[in-house]
Amino acid sequence: MTGRGQHPSARARMRGLMTRAYPICRSITGDGVRRTLDLVEEALPPGAALERTAVPSGTDVFDWTVGEEWNVRGAWIDGPDGERVVDLADHTLHLVSYSTPVRARLSLEELLPHLHSLPEHPAWIPYRTTYYHRDWGFCLPHRVLEQLRPGHYDVTVDTTLAPGELVYGEVLLRGESADEVLVSCHLCHPSMANDNLTGLAVATELVRHLAALPRRRLSYRFLFAPGTIGSLAWLSRNPGVVPRIRHGLVITGLGGGGPLVYKQTRHGDRPVDDAAAHVVGHRGGEVRAYTPYGYDERQFNAVGFDLPVGRLTRTPHGEYAEYHTSADDLDFVTDDELEESLTALTEILDVLERDEVVTNLSPYGEPQLGKRGLYPTMGGKTASDAVMAMLWTLAYADGTASLLEIADRAGLPFAAIRSAADALLGAGLLAADDDCSPALTSAG
Ligand code: ZN
Repeated sequence: MTGRGQHPSARARMRGLMTRAYPICRSITGDGVRRTLDLVEEALPPGAALERTAVPSGTDVFDWTVGEEWNVRGAWIDGPDGERVVDLADHTLHLVSYSTPVRARLSLEELLPHLHSLPEHPAWIPYRTTYYHRDWGFCLPHRVLEQLRPGHYDVTVDTTLAPGELVYGEVLLRGESADEVLVSCHLCHPSMANDNLTGLAVATELVRHLAALPRRRLSYRFLFAPGTIGSLAWLSRNPGVVPRIRHGLVITGLGGGGPLVYKQTRHGDRPVDDAAAHVVGHRGGEVRAYTPYGYDERQFNAVGFDLPVGRLTRTPHGEYAEYHTSADDLDFVTDDELEESLTALTEILDVLERDEVVTNLSPYGEPQLGKRGLYPTMGGKTASDAVMAMLWTLAYADGTASLLEIADRAGLPFAAIRSAADALLGAGLLAADDDCSPALTSAG
């Protein structure tokens, strides 16, 4: 490997989107969300349209209410000698998200309760929000905070909180079936690469992958929404879509080191759980049981919806020091990680798209593969991987086992068993319960 990866253009597009989106001051509402959706839209392939929905402030969504829209023009603090102590223009994390407008002169004692830092990481800026409680504050490196001298500080928070709207975007790629796969990522964090931008970047590239498939059995819906209130707003506006969701994945934190980590649906035994466990297992990753804390899987899995939505990340939120700090920057995410995460997701979706139950049509002993051109003509050599995949498939194709189950039993990747099944279907040795095989399509 040269380190460049197998998909240099995908890597460049993902890196490009993250780099453009990184400096934007995002929150759960406001122009930062709109500008980020503009970038997502630009990154989409031809034929994939981003549909935006605006939900007005004051709209009730289940037990929540869409709040006022927050926008920011600038925010800074000037110190006793007129020096600028902290300035939003330097980093979007400097201002507590949803800070109310302020113009005031405060003593250091009055100011300190509004300042947030990380003593254990004195060079980093923490990420703080105050969405549902009116307040204001600044975040700064602890080493800067420690050097503040007594005196008067002039605080300017030039923000607006006013009736507006919450905006989310979605992309629907229709397949032959109305049954849907939901892929959801949040877009409400300001400058943090792993916790936010990796989800957006990988999702747009996943759209490109799916849009280019010659055939899609399932329909795919990608949701780009602010965390919690955004997914709830989507759920409240789509009662007709919710019953069609057969599988789902929340994606975020797809860089930042560590192996892939799949978090199961609430039930833990849904097809997406099996597909993800297979793929993540083959890649040395980890599967964890559902917990009611995390990202928007909490909303989708809530008892009232009970949607089979798992979550794919690498090291999950809260388990790495850089989480929710300025150290979660563009360098914290490598292109290799993005590419592997993208590949893993395409593999999971491939299982959902093409798994099916198969039946051996020549079940009385082993069928003669050689006379059908499926076996190497030179005898005596060890069976090739392709032949072994066919033998495993025939051995378990009893009309109840799915290709994924056979792959797990054989310890082979799903794609190898799927290829073997396609060869056997083409030779008339296998029947499928479903119409998942491209070979069957051409046969009519
Ligand atoms: Zn977060």
